Amino acid sequence: MRTCTLEKNKSHCPCSFGCGKAGICCECLDYHRSLGELPGCYFPPEVEKTGDRSAARFIEVVRKQGTAYLR
Ligand code: SF4
Repeated sequence: MRTCTLEKNKSHCPCSFGCGKAGICCECLDYHRSLGELPGCYFPPEVEKTGDRSAARFIEVVRKQGTAYLR
């Protein structure tokens, strides 16, 4: 049973780009996955705002910072 709502998802979305997919996580993930990327919520704020959603950048961040910032 689906329990998410657009409003709830938006309240957790840290994306600073306002593309129209904010809160529609399935579309956001599908879009970035199709580009070989991750959604903005996988990045710390200072990286998220650069717009670099690449897997390489995510790996670089995790190697330097670990994953605690995701929680
Ligand atoms: S992460 Fe990408 S698809 Fe998702 S809301 Fe931000 S800009 Fe849009």
